Amino acid sequence: MLCVQAVKAFNDNYIWVLANPDTQQAVVVDPGDSEPVLSFLDKQGWVLAAILATHHHPDHVGGIPALARPDLPIIGPALEKIPCRTQGVNDNDRFVLPGLGVDVEVLHIPGHTLGHVAFHIPVIGALFCGDTLFGAGCGRLFEGTAEQMHRSLQRLAALPGETQVYCGHEYTLANLAFAQRVEPENRHLADRLAADRARIAQGEPTLPSRMKVEQCTNPFLRVTDASVRAAAERHAQRPLEDGTAVFAALRHWKDHFRA
Ligand code: ZN
Ligand code: FE
Repeated sequence: MLCVQAVKAFNDNYIWVLANPDTQQAVVVDPGDSEPVLSFLDKQGWVLAAILATHHHPDHVGGIPALARPDLPIIGPALEKIPCRTQGVNDNDRFVLPGLGVDVEVLHIPGHTLGHVAFHIPVIGALFCGDTLFGAGCGRLFEGTAEQMHRSLQRLAALPGETQVYCGHEYTLANLAFAQRVEPENRHLADRLAADRARIAQGEPTLPSRMKVEQCTNPFLRVTDASVRAAAERHAQRPLEDGTAVFAALRHWKDHFRA
């Protein structure tokens, strides 16, 4: 039976650790730092069987060189420079996760970076989406266009509603403050804010989230909703012709938003 645990790094990064406690094999996703990973694995008595990387930013790959061994599979996007990578993956690739034996599907989801990938593991209903989809928000457009990011998010949103969403950062509460500004009447937002505030107060992550929760609370997945579109048009002070234009206006609004 696989489990997924969060290891905190830097201010607000999560390094996700998938493991089979029976066989003590573990796989880490986006190890921006090696120290917290090594001490966590040591404490659990788990052995590192592979590393997955979603994109090339240092807060996601900075720990790889110190974790690398000659025999360790290090799997990341073929389109980006990932330190010590042993296997480059492309859109729609499938592979068996080393050490854990489950099938992984790769989705190329450009926008935050151009080669960014997500790893979807259908058998446990888990999605590791790096800095593309966040709890109630999405990543900034550092390399890609609004059109690319919008398409990438639509693809993730089409995964089963029960999918557990493992994001690269703890940004949920700040994102919910923005979401409430966009949709003050959305009841799901108030419920989610109360639940996630309680988690943070207990020292727990707000993640994983569920895709169905994102679908009803994440404004960046809700650009076809009439009230989201109307709010974006009011803020942009012009009509927005399609979903991409609404998405771009929301992303720009959020870039300058102070709660
Ligand atoms: Zn990033
Ligand atoms: Fe990041």
